Amino acid sequence: MKDPIKSRARFAEAQKVMPGGVNSPVRAFKAVGLDPLFIEKAKGSRIYDIDGNVFIDYVCSWGPLILGHAYAEVVHSICQAAEYGTSYGAPCEKEIELAGLICEAIPSIDLIRMVNSGTEATMSAVRVARAFTGRDKIVKFEGCYHGHADSFLIKGGSGLLTSGIPTSPGIPADYAAETLVGRYNHIESLTEIFEMWGKDIAAVIVEPVAGNMGLVVPDREFLLQLRKITADYGSLLIFDEVISGFRCCYGGYQNLIDIKPDITTLGKIIGGGLPVGAYGGRREIMERVAPAGDVYQAGTLSGNPLAMAAGAATLKLLRDSDCYAFLEELGEYMTGGIKELLLSQGMDYQLNHLGSMFSLFFSSQPVRDYDSAVKSDTGLYSRFYRILLEEGLYFPPSQFEVCFISAAHTREDIESSLLAMEKALHMIRQEAQNICR
Ligand code: PMP
Repeated sequence: MKDPIKSRARFAEAQKVMPGGVNSPVRAFKAVGLDPLFIEKAKGSRIYDIDGNVFIDYVCSWGPLILGHAYAEVVHSICQAAEYGTSYGAPCEKEIELAGLICEAIPSIDLIRMVNSGTEATMSAVRVARAFTGRDKIVKFEGCYHGHADSFLIKGGSGLLTSGIPTSPGIPADYAAETLVGRYNHIESLTEIFEMWGKDIAAVIVEPVAGNMGLVVPDREFLLQLRKITADYGSLLIFDEVISGFRCCYGGYQNLIDIKPDITTLGKIIGGGLPVGAYGGRREIMERVAPAGDVYQAGTLSGNPLAMAAGAATLKLLRDSDCYAFLEELGEYMTGGIKELLLSQGMDYQLNHLGSMFSLFFSSQPVRDYDSAVKSDTGLYSRFYRILLEEGLYFPPSQFEVCFISAAHTREDIESSLLAMEKALHMIRQEAQNICR
């Protein structure tokens, strides 16, 4: 890898005009002790920085680019839409097309509202859930991320049954108190919360596949219990499928496990790489949203024609191809290879994997919730990350994010990535041995 001199200079400039030099915190590479790379372009499975370095990309813009960067048909659909104007602030036909595709793919969604980000989707879903149930409290799980709205930047109090504590200044304590925090994959934590607060809980929001403490695959029983307990108490179940939607199959993860939430939030893939989010669910709930109903939610750029075109093109390509089988195969190939490497190096690790998503944790115990995720050796991950970058792999610059494989990746990409990982693992093991001596 060439010394990223230009990126460093740009980062210094960026810091003069933007907080921390970036428009979203994890991009600053702080967690891995580096400065961010500035990107010039990306195509297929490759991402190029402004210093002339090229990397195999396993971030894929944090998930949306399931077809790879600048997929020709998606780009074409965006260009074609742009020729007709970039925004109308009025209905356009592409909105119906994308909404129709989503409703058809995810049976729990009768009606859907397009917004501009995952944050807007989850924030609006909670508002309609509160209005529908006439209750204020919501439950989220430690380690799950649902965007940066005030209700979600909350961690658990000292005991499970205490109210939440803000994880960011600027969130009123009274507001935080309406969010209760449970433990992911722990049914008993859920039961305790419901025994205490059940009749006040408007909704439980959960990532059915957790992707924000690294990848944590759910126990199906946990999600089944969630469905049951929310139904028993008249609370709504919100599946936040911003990452998992259209990632594991054509539809939501809910399709695979056959559990119907009341509301689903989506983002990332449904926008084909443009800014889109959406929330949808049962007709009687969604009919509360204005102008059909009384719950206010609006957006100047919502249903933007370019974003709708990119999203619809992406979904149709996914629907009409054998993309998911190919992604599954690549995922197996990659994770099988990584396991072999780790075994041959005799290292403690956990490799969480689902289809085209995976996360490697340097830890001796299974990672199935927030507590076990944070016990992994993040220092080792940073070292691993830095060597991979040198070797031409662009992994997420944080232990607590997911690696994504796209349909533009090839078996050759995976093979050269495994070689890079072999070198990285060998180096970190040698370094560890030198420290011990
Ligand atoms: N929900 C989940 C599960 C997410 O992973 C994210 C973002 N990564 C969001 C919501 C928020 O989406 P956005 O960044 O588009 O606001």
